[in-house]
Amino acid sequence: MLDVKGHAVPQGHYINGSWIDGDGSYAVFSPINGEILGEMPAGTEAEVQAAVASAHSAFPAWAALGAEGRLPILKRFAEEIGKRAEALCEVESADAGILLSRLQHGIIPRSMLNITWFAEAALTLQDRIIETAQANHYVRHDPAGVCAIITPWNAPLMLTTWKLGPALASGNTCVIKPPEWAPLSSALLMEAADAAELPPGVLNMVHGEGRPTGAALISDPRLARISFTGSVPTAREIAAEAARNLVPCSLELGGKSPFIVLEDADLELAARTGALMYRNATQVCLAGTRFLIHEKVRAEFTEKMAKHVASLKVGDPQLPDTEVGPLIHPRQLKKVEAFVQRAILAGADVLWGGAGHQAGDLYFQPTMLSNVSQDAEIVQEEVFGPVLVMQSFASDAQAIALANDSVYGLGGVCFGEEHHAQAVSNQVKTGFIWINSFGIRDLAAPFGGCKQSGIGREGGEWSFEFFCDVKDVIVPKKPFVPSFAQR
Ligand code: NAD
Repeated sequence: MLDVKGHAVPQGHYINGSWIDGDGSYAVFSPINGEILGEMPAGTEAEVQAAVASAHSAFPAWAALGAEGRLPILKRFAEEIGKRAEALCEVESADAGILLSRLQHGIIPRSMLNITWFAEAALTLQDRIIETAQANHYVRHDPAGVCAIITPWNAPLMLTTWKLGPALASGNTCVIKPPEWAPLSSALLMEAADAAELPPGVLNMVHGEGRPTGAALISDPRLARISFTGSVPTAREIAAEAARNLVPCSLELGGKSPFIVLEDADLELAARTGALMYRNATQVCLAGTRFLIHEKVRAEFTEKMAKHVASLKVGDPQLPDTEVGPLIHPRQLKKVEAFVQRAILAGADVLWGGAGHQAGDLYFQPTMLSNVSQDAEIVQEEVFGPVLVMQSFASDAQAIALANDSVYGLGGVCFGEEHHAQAVSNQVKTGFIWINSFGIRDLAAPFGGCKQSGIGREGGEWSFEFFCDVKDVIVPKKPFVPSFAQR
């Protein structure tokens, strides 16, 4: 067991309802101050195979329980997550640098809901009947089998439960591979599953890095689904591997989402919301990171947003008034610094920020760059750090063209008179877009991206469509007469 902030965190893999000591190990440290939190095992191919085998054996009985049988077990799972709220919040904040206040007030309740909402929604999965003159079509949503779940470090607890909820509720069994830079909350999640008496093998976890552990998992031919959230290069590798076994994948990837401010926008609201883009040090896939501002309101908007950004508190995410925490890893800090330096060399102006906080730590100032060309790297590539870019436009058509000139198509934000903003937003090619707001989500609504931001949608019925095999059971209304002439 590790001792993290006074909380015991199991150190092994979790396979077939037991904790297994792994062979290799790697160090996990806190981005808050670089403190080593402990060692976690680096899963081998044999451990991955054991986890998949256990999920495979547990599948028939878990599927046969039906949604009614699974509901009380999954409710217990959510309750056990709730009982560990304090440990989950403090451990995840130390491990991933996420604001403690956000974990307490946002992520814990949402993670519990990710389990209970889907467990209840699954009760109606077999309700759909298509009635025609000839027959009743009973449209079944049968669980697919063993699902691999792979998540990134920027929101481990939220994203893992968001995938586990629908996967388990619809009768699948799962193997998760937690993110190596922030694996600890997943260990506590397995402890919660264990305490809730999920049958052994229904949920398994193997720690380790993308290679070899993640790669061993996705290449296992016994998988029925792969649900992945992470970067585009990893998604390409996963999709290529999945193609060998023809396993369906859901891919939730990066973004470079536009934040559009039309000339008739409420500039104060837009500016306050703009400052929110620095939450989690902008290590948030859905943040608006390309600011497109109507030229007539640009000066006023910039002045207002600068004021809000200047008052942001950057620092220890465990302090209650901190608003912007650290970057996750020295590699991420280097990447962010290099993006800013290259942009400045290419002629970008720094409107605010532009540098690290102090040498040796992982805090980077909230930054805004401007005077950038549309084809500049900083406009086209995802930084995944607190570095935004600002451009202007003179017409709706130009705003839409700039917004759509990206290989990404995850999300967007648009401020303006409601109908005007909606008309512009309808023409922006993304999986979702917020009008005069940001971050409003609902488990029933679809989430996902277009273009290189992903394949598929998660949320509500879209999650179930992915995690289930849809089957049509056809029952004729009149006695059937066999005929070779039949269509
Ligand atoms: P990453 O792709 O490097 O890693 C994600 C996960 O994949 C990790 O658990 C990693 O171990 C695993 N992995 C790496 N190589 C693998 C392989 N060959 N086979 C199997 N697994 C492998 O991403 P990251 O840096 O951890 O996360 C940041 C990225 O995630 C950003 O691009 C961000 O936009 C994206 N993201 C997207 C969403 C969304 O919902 N669209 C949400 C959060 C983050």
